[in-house]
Amino acid sequence: MSKKTPMMEQYLRLKAAHPDAILFFHLGDFYEAFFEDAEVLARELDVVLTARNGNPMAGVPIRRGEAYVNELLKRGYKVAICQQMEDPRKATGLVRREVVRVVTPGTTLDDGVLDAGRNNYLCAVYRRGARFGLAALDLSTGEFTATAASDREALTGELTRLSPSELLLPPELKEEFAELEQGVITVLPAEQFDPKSVSDAEFGVPEEALCAAGAVLAYVAETQKGIVAHLQRLQMYSLSERMEIDPFTLRNLELVKPLREGEERGTLLHVLDKTATGMGRRYLRRAILAPLLDRAEIEARLAAVETLTQDELVQQALTEALARVHDLERLTGKLGAGRMGPLDLLLLERSLDQLPRVTEALSGVAGGASGLLIRIIEDLSFPRLAELREGLSGMLVDQPPADARDGGLIRPGFSEQLDRLHAEMRALRAQIAALEQKERARTGIPSLKVGYNRVFGYYIEVTKPHLSKVPPEYHRRQTLTNAERFVTEELREYEQRIAVAQERAVALELELFTQALERLKEGIPLLQRAAHALGKLDFLLSLAVVARRNRYTRPRFTDRHEIVIREGRHPVVELVEEFVPNDLALPEGTDLAIITGPNMSGKSVYLRQTALICLMAQVGSFVPAREATLPILDRIFARVGASDMLVSGISTFMMEMLETAAILNRATARSLIILDEMGRGTSTYDGLSIAWAVAKELAGSVRAKTLFATHYQELTRLADELPNVTNLHVAVKEVGKEVVFLHRVEPGVAAGSYGVHVARLAGLPDRVTEQAERILAEFLAGSPLYPKAGAPDASAQSLPLFGPDEHPVVKRLRKIDPNNLTPLEALELLFQLRKEL
Ligand code: ADP
Repeated sequence: MSKKTPMMEQYLRLKAAHPDAILFFHLGDFYEAFFEDAEVLARELDVVLTARNGNPMAGVPIRRGEAYVNELLKRGYKVAICQQMEDPRKATGLVRREVVRVVTPGTTLDDGVLDAGRNNYLCAVYRRGARFGLAALDLSTGEFTATAASDREALTGELTRLSPSELLLPPELKEEFAELEQGVITVLPAEQFDPKSVSDAEFGVPEEALCAAGAVLAYVAETQKGIVAHLQRLQMYSLSERMEIDPFTLRNLELVKPLREGEERGTLLHVLDKTATGMGRRYLRRAILAPLLDRAEIEARLAAVETLTQDELVQQALTEALARVHDLERLTGKLGAGRMGPLDLLLLERSLDQLPRVTEALSGVAGGASGLLIRIIEDLSFPRLAELREGLSGMLVDQPPADARDGGLIRPGFSEQLDRLHAEMRALRAQIAALEQKERARTGIPSLKVGYNRVFGYYIEVTKPHLSKVPPEYHRRQTLTNAERFVTEELREYEQRIAVAQERAVALELELFTQALERLKEGIPLLQRAAHALGKLDFLLSLAVVARRNRYTRPRFTDRHEIVIREGRHPVVELVEEFVPNDLALPEGTDLAIITGPNMSGKSVYLRQTALICLMAQVGSFVPAREATLPILDRIFARVGASDMLVSGISTFMMEMLETAAILNRATARSLIILDEMGRGTSTYDGLSIAWAVAKELAGSVRAKTLFATHYQELTRLADELPNVTNLHVAVKEVGKEVVFLHRVEPGVAAGSYGVHVARLAGLPDRVTEQAERILAEFLAGSPLYPKAGAPDASAQSLPLFGPDEHPVVKRLRKIDPNNLTPLEALELLFQLRKEL
């Protein structure tokens, strides 16, 4: 066994305390990683692998350390930063080193990793019996919340909404929750889920929520090594305070994330986002994912939006002022976590400078109109905020360094003492300059020069021809080709005095900076409150700007169980093409609408626009409709064609059934359900039977408001059976053999499904589409699925096409349900059939 050096022993001890992190070991100008850590750095980031005493080692320069840390974070690693705690030049023996911080995806404060438009949540889940506790902390802003969930579905719904970067779990939940893929999983020992560590929680918080919150606090204490002055008081919320949106719905409605990667413009978030700050963008995102249920709260937002829509000049003034506000929320987070540099402080000061402009512009419109806006003005105009701002004014230079230890950040005139030190340095430099004249006269060397370089400091330079005149008290320092450089006692003394003054100035600057931060820290709660108010204002303003630009109207809420929308539009689709607005009336007593119509006629769009209008209204946004009277919905469920959700190992149909089960288990009479083409993933009979049963259950017992788009014409007969079922169809116009899509939704049942027409549109040859039409006609006449009054019994009819000696291609054709084919599938099938022929 090789003998370990003391430094290696130090390394191994520190590494043992952080086994699941890459340890960055400060060694001179580098962070070094050893053993497996070094191999990770080499593999992931192409850092050159070297060796020290035969052990693998890889180093990154300290100056670029942050960039490497960020890259590792993005790849799901954690990094423990170990620093030298004393100056190696002054240390006796082994330099003291400590891990000052562990950087993890859920606790990073680095702008290089964080997305300005999203909260970065560190979540913890705890289970107690059948109930779950969930805590979420955004360390970058200090927002700290917890809730309890009575079942796993509610919990996963909430986790999907929060979409954490890191999830803390007790050992027993690891297996079960790892597959959720909600951020990097960190397993903590069970005892860290300690409810007692949450000292300032309100009374009556469920224990399971406290346990989760306790784990979050323990983890933050461990990774941040204690420096967090900005955590807000734990706020308890109940899942029943917000509209429930399950993960399927969240995805299907494309609220914040497009179904297909790269199509961000297709999301509701994108349409509504005209925010000017990160605070506003995060607020908007949170709001879209958690629509309100309290009518007064919704009306308060709507009233504020209405006020803000009324004056375009004010809108502009506010947008401009907000655009100059930096991310006050995250700057305050850096302040609280001891990570604020001079540059950050300058941004914070500039943000505070904008507050009077914001409140002034706002006071112009808010006069009594909106309680919400008045509270925002209040939160932005605390006198103490102005004091904090004044405390900073005139302190920093225009371009301060990122790191306060570099000095050169305090503006002249701010501190007399500092100015004196600078004056002293100037005087000393002047004396050095005067020395040149003095020495020239004394030595009689006219070309004698005083100069400075970084290596040797101040020197006197004498060119070769004059070297004979150099006095004996000159000490040689450096020889050049044409000259020699010297120092004198006097020069050395000046230099020393400058160095002392310089060191004192830098120390004083650091002290002044630190003092300013300390004073500011006392204002953290106020800064957070102001930041929150700015975010909310930015959010409301964004809704107002969009409402005006896209001609939205204020929705009305009713206690009646009805949805009435006049000239509703799809907020995304209307921006990219000529749009046909549509009405929807589901009055009391009408709960389910079966919607038929050809493929591509606009059924999906109609369904989604209805869900989006209802959701937007409860977010507090105006809606894309001429008029909308809406109930307050407790849940929205959106299920649209399962085809694009192939999950490995689960069949499309199974997936669809799982999603449907979730609806039947959770929907209430106050829910909205949109179901698009349910039952597609299985055979016609199966599909129809299930669709029928589900529709009947929804209309018959659940009585949720439901839009059910289907290609099963048979379903329309449900309206004869149940009084609260109605039929709608998307109208088309037939011009000869062509079909024109009108995208107009009308009462009643569609005449046909026009699948063959779509096949024609997709370019199938006429031979085939004509053939298909003939087959379809036969089906319609003979299939038990499509019994027509007076149609002869299929078995009794002789069908020449399907005689006993049919060609295999004909046999296959026989099995096809053209209604059940997408144009692509039809095309593919056509190629296959031709090949077979
Ligand atoms: P379906 O669900 O009936 O197959 P979609 O709802 O997907 O059809 O609509 C197909 C296309 O028709 C959409 O992509 C859109 O381009 C267009 N569309 C749908 N509804 C409208 C409308 N109301 N106004 C204008 N175009 C529409």
